[in-house]
Amino acid sequence: MKTQDNKVVLGQWPTPLAKLDNLSRHLGVAIEIKRDDLSGLAFGGNKTRKLEPILAEALAQDCDVVITAGATQSNHCRQTAAAAAMLGLECHLVLAGQADDFPVKQGNLLLDHLFGCTIHWSGDNRKGEDIPALKQQLITQGKRPYVVPYGGSNALGASAYVLAMQELASQRDSQPAYTHIIFASSSGGTHAGVALGNVLYPQSKNVVGVYIDKAESTDSFCQHILSLSDQAAQHMGVPDRLELNQIGLNSDYLGEGYGVLGNAEREAIALMASQEGILLDPVYSGRAFSGLLGMIRQGQIAKDDRVLFWHTGGSPALFAYADQL
Ligand SMILES: *Cc1c(COP(=O)(O)O)cnc(C)c1O
Repeated sequence: MKTQDNKVVLGQWPTPLAKLDNLSRHLGVAIEIKRDDLSGLAFGGNKTRKLEPILAEALAQDCDVVITAGATQSNHCRQTAAAAAMLGLECHLVLAGQADDFPVKQGNLLLDHLFGCTIHWSGDNRKGEDIPALKQQLITQGKRPYVVPYGGSNALGASAYVLAMQELASQRDSQPAYTHIIFASSSGGTHAGVALGNVLYPQSKNVVGVYIDKAESTDSFCQHILSLSDQAAQHMGVPDRLELNQIGLNSDYLGEGYGVLGNAEREAIALMASQEGILLDPVYSGRAFSGLLGMIRQGQIAKDDRVLFWHTGGSPALFAYADQL
């Protein structure tokens, strides 16, 4: 849906903010949840926020095709495909793997097909390495392609999470600040936005992005987040800049690597589901919540702390892991 001021609205805002009473009792720490998994766009997730300004730019540039890339079970690609359907744009996804690997379409891949997008298989490449060639091909066909960056992480995507912090602040009035805001971090846009947003609309003593991908060293990923937050600040015209010590990247929960389900994630998913009736996902939110559980066990989060778990979505991927859960 395109409104008159060229805004694109893809989701339902604000997303709910709720207490997790059963888990708080069970774990002995007050935990609340921000439900971006309920953002409303085709099973929801954090990419809905990021895609609103990004696809507004695509429409403003009069593009007619969007291209993006990701893992086979990419939530970003699924939400991009749904948004493209909604906006009447053609969509091309460049996904890791090959067609033969998936005789039965499941999870996000099944949904990608239903949204009518074109899938290009890219083997081991899951970060858009093959996009430039595809873009050129579409231009040759007379189309006007727009490339949505990996994970929707650029100045626009990150600024959407600065505004998400403003949304959170408006839901909380003058309640005492959280001690920790915890969420999954991967392409960095969510992290950059939440951390910068916490400077502009202070909500928490600590921001804790649980890094779920081994792809980059902790140092280089921090620099990437810093750069994204600077780009977002510049785009939004705010003078504030994030300091390295305000990023709060936690790399203790990388598990067996990107997308590999281990016991820690399995336990976290089962605990949230059985205590609260809320679904996490195997790749991102399950791992981030296992980080929260680990931090409680290690005493890094204590009894009188107040924690916000930011649910970033991803539950459709559960079905692709059915034989491992
Ligand atoms: C993409 C994604 C993330 C990570 O967000 P980034 O902005 O890419 O760091 C977290 N959770 C889910 C479910 C995602 O799909």
